[in-house]
Amino acid sequence: MIISWIAIFILALSYWFQIWKIHLHKEVRDLSIPYHVLLALGFGMLTYQAYLDDSTIFLVKQILTTLPVIVIIGQILYHRKDKWHDDKDRFCCCDHEIEPDWIRCPYCECDCIEKGKDHEKEREDSLR
Ligand SMILES: [Zn+2]
Ligand SMILES: [Zn+2]
Repeated sequence: MIISWIAIFILALSYWFQIWKIHLHKEVRDLSIPYHVLLALGFGMLTYQAYLDDSTIFLVKQILTTLPVIVIIGQILYHRKDKWHDDKDRFCCCDHEIEPDWIRCPYCECDCIEKGKDHEKEREDSLR
């Protein structure tokens, strides 16, 4: 019984790690809406079945996994037009954020990445 509760906790927690990642990076380009909607539907139906069956542990499990999936659907819709973001990333002279593994800026023809320029720092210096 205790193993089941631990498993439920781990399962639910795994979704919240995904939610936290999306929150940090606003990265939803690769997340599929149909996948998450079907997941939420399936989990939701099983939640109802668990309620009918009067199974507490099954009901808790279903609620704890359905909720975060619904949150992720909300995040996908909310961040649909957002671009990748990380506080550690540099910015190009064209003001777009440069992702860590990029070797050149896809938005302009500059050589910022090649030359390792840090426009954030330059901007701060020019304000001084
Ligand atoms: Zn640049
Ligand atoms: Zn650029």
